[in-house]
Amino acid sequence: MDLTIHQNCPSCGADIVLSEADRLIRCPYCEVQNFMVTRGLLRFVLPHKAPDHILPEDMFYAPYLRFKGNIYYCKGKFIKYKVVDTTQQGMLVSALPPSLGLRPQAMPVTLVTEEVVGHFLPQTIKAKTVLERAAQLTVIDSENIKAPFYHRAYIGETLSCIYLPLYIDNGTLYDAVTNKALGRGGSEDTMRTGTFSYKENWAPHFLATVCPHCGDLLSGKRDSLILSCYNCHSSWKEQKGGFQKIQWSAVATDYKGMYHLPFWKMTVRAVGVALETFADFLRATNQPLVIQPRHRERQLIFWIPGFKVRPSTFLRLGKNLTLRQEKIGEGGQEMPEHMHPVTLPRKEAVQALKSVFAGAALNKQKLLPQLPEVHFKVLETELCYLPFFDKGYDFVQEQTGISIAQSVLNFGRKL
Ligand SMILES: [Zn+2]
Ligand SMILES: [Zn+2]
Repeated sequence: MDLTIHQNCPSCGADIVLSEADRLIRCPYCEVQNFMVTRGLLRFVLPHKAPDHILPEDMFYAPYLRFKGNIYYCKGKFIKYKVVDTTQQGMLVSALPPSLGLRPQAMPVTLVTEEVVGHFLPQTIKAKTVLERAAQLTVIDSENIKAPFYHRAYIGETLSCIYLPLYIDNGTLYDAVTNKALGRGGSEDTMRTGTFSYKENWAPHFLATVCPHCGDLLSGKRDSLILSCYNCHSSWKEQKGGFQKIQWSAVATDYKGMYHLPFWKMTVRAVGVALETFADFLRATNQPLVIQPRHRERQLIFWIPGFKVRPSTFLRLGKNLTLRQEKIGEGGQEMPEHMHPVTLPRKEAVQALKSVFAGAALNKQKLLPQLPEVHFKVLETELCYLPFFDKGYDFVQEQTGISIAQSVLNFGRKL
């Protein structure tokens, strides 16, 4: 589920409605484009309907942590995944609801700004605990598989903080969204102990989207993590509050109107098992083909989707492209016209390596128990755009014939 967020335009102050994944913000009023950079957790607040006699400075805000993402796990001879979207209390107070339930999806949330003047209750539960609880869901999910866990990975997850507004009226604590009483007792003074006001470093930064190399305007889709310069044909990611150049290529095509999907092309070496060349990969995953000298000469390269898509499709694309990589030629440096946004950062793609490796194995019973010993070292990364034919319902990759349903790809932008 996607959150609807209200944010003020950093240039003209107009109210802009965003979706949770948006990074490149183009203001519909002043048309200025900014790239949003977050530090730490993004913090949101639910809209409140507190009665008029409750002053804004008397409001309290209780933190809830939201985990949204996919958890992949290998157990016995199975690779499973679970799509998790959960909101849990960020502090242990029995009077408060344990979860926000569907509320964050049912109503627009606002980014917390200095205009929220109340008292913020401290988050006492660590983000790590929320991750562990989310992981616990996979344990429950897999209870009927009586075999050891070999691997677990969080891929493409986001963690954010959503504040539930509260107030005290006549000694009773109220949920300010529903105006329902939560419990009696506790004065405002006791409740105020340990609270703090808005912190400046919670606010996202905004970067002007100008190419650091040539000064032209950078472009991208609203949810793209990578921006492109069509003037000097360069690709940029945000790092430490600035844009940093990344290595990229696009596989050339003779066809017009192709749609390009981004993949993280990673040259890796494994530690723990003998996995150095493409031949080793074919052998380790038991592929039914005769290993040729050319396989032994080829470095081990993984192709990991650079976009969010549901787990079954993610694994299938990663596996099939990695297996058919010989068909894909070297990429060039001409920025393609029609591109799908990069919504999965490189760091997440690295975390997906083991799952894609496991997914490629034909004999999972044999390979999966080895996973705890396998560690991939990434030697080189390149963002590579591959051309796909637009067949109406599907996109079909030109060199390998691999296809993906367009509806599945579009749905992935909401994950
Ligand atoms: Zn504006
Ligand atoms: Zn440029």
